[in-house]
Amino acid sequence: MAATPALQAATVAAPKKLLVVSVTKGFRHESIPVIEKVLQGLADQNRAFALDYARTDEELAAKATVKSLVGFDGVVFASTTGDLPLPDRDGFVDWIAKGHAFVGIHAATDTFPGFPAYLDMIGGQFKHHGPQTTVEVFVRDPKSPATAGLPKSWSVFDEIYQFQRYDPARVHLLLAMDKHPETGEAGELPLAWTRSHGRGRVFYTALGHREDVLEADWYKAHLLGGIRWALGLDEAH
Ligand SMILES: [Zn+2]
Repeated sequence: MAATPALQAATVAAPKKLLVVSVTKGFRHESIPVIEKVLQGLADQNRAFALDYARTDEELAAKATVKSLVGFDGVVFASTTGDLPLPDRDGFVDWIAKGHAFVGIHAATDTFPGFPAYLDMIGGQFKHHGPQTTVEVFVRDPKSPATAGLPKSWSVFDEIYQFQRYDPARVHLLLAMDKHPETGEAGELPLAWTRSHGRGRVFYTALGHREDVLEADWYKAHLLGGIRWALGLDEAH
């Protein structure tokens, strides 16, 4: 079997480096260790990127200064919540804009509620969720690496977020619902998107509250594609 272009690239290029942040100052998801396990599995299989972790305030203070971020190509916010004790939060958002990757998983939009520059960077702010429910997920752009190989639509049982500070004109929509998960009212509601932030690349997926969602093959492919796109390893086609 011929090696894929991605695998060939991985053998010649040094792996990109991602800092996985899982500090929480609000609600703490029990699924955070599963997010880390899934991410580590993707990194180990893919070999195009390697992971470091900031799990505590102290690790965040040491690894996420503008100076220490020089060692990273991007960050993953793994269901972070609340006002994180970043050493320089404006400098952090500027660092992304200078051409780094930001990957946000689930509660990453429930983070920095009083920091507009972060919310504008990620593209929306968590507003509300109802009881866990089954929704029909539709792919809105099949050409993104984060949707490659996914069906046109499928059913997912998860905790489903509604957003504020979300403007469809500011994001590139990847996954959406066509009706409200609680009221059934028709309308396009976002579940995952990408956006450019300066020269930086932002990928956010609202899905991934439940451990069985995080460990589903489709979710791993979605996350891996989003990470690779954000790191500039793959382009939309
Ligand atoms: Zn949740």
